Amino acid sequence: MMQTPLLMKSLLERAEKLFPNKEVVSRTANGLLRYTYREYGQRTRRLSSVLASLGVERGDRVATFAWNSHRHLEAYFAIPSMGAVLHTVNIRLFPEQIAYIVNHAEDKVMLIDEDLVPLIEGIQDKLPTVLAYIIMSDKAELPATTLQPAYSYEALLQTGDPSFEYPDDLDENAPMGMCYTSATTGNPKGVVYSHRGIVLHSYAVGLVDTIGMSESDTVLPIVPMFHANAWGQPFAAVWYGSKQVLPGPQPNPHILLDLMEQEQVTLAAAVPTIWLSVAKLLDEHPRDLKLRAVLCGGSAAPRALIQTYEEKYNIPFVHAYGMTETSPLATFARLKSYQRNLSKDEILDYRAKQGFLVPGLDMRVVGDRGDVAWNGEEMGELLLRGPWIASEYYRDERTRDAFKNGWLHTGDVATIDPEGFIKLVDRTKDLVKSGGEWISSMDLENALMAHPAVFEATVVGIPHPKWYERPLAFVTLKDAFKSKVDKQELIEFLRPHFAKWWLPDDVVFIDEIPKTSVGKFLKRALRDQYASHFKPN
Ligand code: ADP
Repeated sequence: MMQTPLLMKSLLERAEKLFPNKEVVSRTANGLLRYTYREYGQRTRRLSSVLASLGVERGDRVATFAWNSHRHLEAYFAIPSMGAVLHTVNIRLFPEQIAYIVNHAEDKVMLIDEDLVPLIEGIQDKLPTVLAYIIMSDKAELPATTLQPAYSYEALLQTGDPSFEYPDDLDENAPMGMCYTSATTGNPKGVVYSHRGIVLHSYAVGLVDTIGMSESDTVLPIVPMFHANAWGQPFAAVWYGSKQVLPGPQPNPHILLDLMEQEQVTLAAAVPTIWLSVAKLLDEHPRDLKLRAVLCGGSAAPRALIQTYEEKYNIPFVHAYGMTETSPLATFARLKSYQRNLSKDEILDYRAKQGFLVPGLDMRVVGDRGDVAWNGEEMGELLLRGPWIASEYYRDERTRDAFKNGWLHTGDVATIDPEGFIKLVDRTKDLVKSGGEWISSMDLENALMAHPAVFEATVVGIPHPKWYERPLAFVTLKDAFKSKVDKQELIEFLRPHFAKWWLPDDVVFIDEIPKTSVGKFLKRALRDQYASHFKPN
């Protein structure tokens, strides 16, 4: 067989040649912008030529600091297609962390959304490697900024070459992108993606047994483009010629629902907290939606949430698992054909698991005594390997702990059932260690979120004088139930489903559960704040 390299530029070229009239829709500060993949390709090539004239060479890192927009999408292909490395920086990190990762990646140029410029101005004297700041605004005039040297994206693009040629001789194993992922302690860890890995991952996005993205889809990547490549959707959508809708700055559930309705979105992907908020609005105002599936991952999708989407709104809900290190798609909770005859409850049980492996990857679940039995009971750490799984952390000695003997050690504890469905029990660090036994915080919070009064719930292990740790639940009630439900009612609701010693020792009602930069529950904040909750006075 031929050894043709798997390169990002061929994804772009396919959209240019086969789908020149398909649309990209981008929500900007000035309304919706629409253009075709023909114009997209030309602007993308202009951007590459501009970056080349600013001195960007193969292997150089170029950072983006941006919302999900057409300009960010241009950077998504302009940077890797020319052989440089697309470094998507998380806009919600603390300034010191941003400075750390820009320095660690040695970014040469930064592309920054206009409204985010002040965040970078505040740390610019700590960014010696950055030689140019390009400000992405709807206008060609450069907005007022103290960044030096600063350029206007649109003005630069006017000078760029719309026919810029991409190199053919890149190595498919060369880096095309990088993304830093949060660590329990210490600085974020850099994950490097190769051309080959992302092309193969983009194939996976198109498989009917995953999410089956196709030309006929209208795709709305809600998950940020600075987080695990928006789960690879923008790359795949360009390749398949799918219409894309990019939700722009500060998207909220109202904006997302408007976009889904107006643009007839068929496929949208987000973390569970977003789907929870969207459901809340859908309850208030039904919409005319054409969604053929919503993709949900990043944290465990509560069973009740899956049920709501499927039974109440008639929208198929696809639960998936992955991590920044895995590009990210790794498992999908899809039923096998012969499982469709199971009872509703059994089906929901499967759908609420993280699912089974995407073709192309290998998996093990390893406990104290080696690989666990596939009985849905024995727990162990999930190990993954495959062509779109990272092989190291970029220049980081934590590589040694996570990448061993060719396997990524995910830090996620799971069981695996006879059908090969994995069920995440917890992240190792979130398991509640009570009296020498483990309690799954994830199981408790999913069960709590099935209570009709509960909007969001999370459970954390809090130090306990006798048991080492005990579970403490935090609950946000739906508006209509505020002050109408007490701790006892929630504990009684859990009681039939858990051993007595699993039940939370206390329930704290709060207005909002703190979230991480990508909308996951920020357990660490609660753990710190309530560290002495079970301590004797
Ligand atoms: P961060 O560490 O910043 O959250 P990632 O997005 O890479 O960054 O997080 C990956 C982790 O998210 C996984 O290791 C796992 O713990 C959790 N996760 C992802 N998808 C799911 C899911 N479907 N169910 C439960 N946990 C999930």
